[in-house]
Amino acid sequence: MILEIKKDKDPVLRKKCQKVKGLDSVRELITNMKETLIANEGVGLAASQVGELKKIIIVYFPGEKEPFALINPKIISKSFKKNWLQEGCLSFPGAVLNIKRSQKIRVKALSEKGEKIILSFKGLPARIVQHEVDHIQGRVFFERLSFFQRKKWNY
Ligand SMILES: [Zn+2]
Repeated sequence: MILEIKKDKDPVLRKKCQKVKGLDSVRELITNMKETLIANEGVGLAASQVGELKKIIIVYFPGEKEPFALINPKIISKSFKKNWLQEGCLSFPGAVLNIKRSQKIRVKALSEKGEKIILSFKGLPARIVQHEVDHIQGRVFFERLSFFQRKKWNY
């Protein structure tokens, strides 16, 4: 089922998500989030973007066959080296922001099978995961801008 994506100033986008306990209760949500991400041709989606305050992100890296979920993802290390790149967000259609993020990260999470995993990401996948992990912490990408730029965008 394709879910409605919460947009713009919807307060749910500024709320922190809660840790998932027990995967059975979120399987349907994960399936629906994947369908929603594909239908919107996005590369990442966090549960808060569909109004669910749960620590779940779906990522769909360019070139990959299928999207996958990370449950309770936590960034455990970030490279000192950062770069700038333009980002979009399904919750803010039309906004393309130049954001500075770490080039490499390591993430601890649960897989969809409930296994504890540690994954390393670099380049675009690292950027996508950082954007989505921000979402589950109640941060939208405007908060990564300088004060002056935020004012310009009226955020
Ligand atoms: Zn986003």
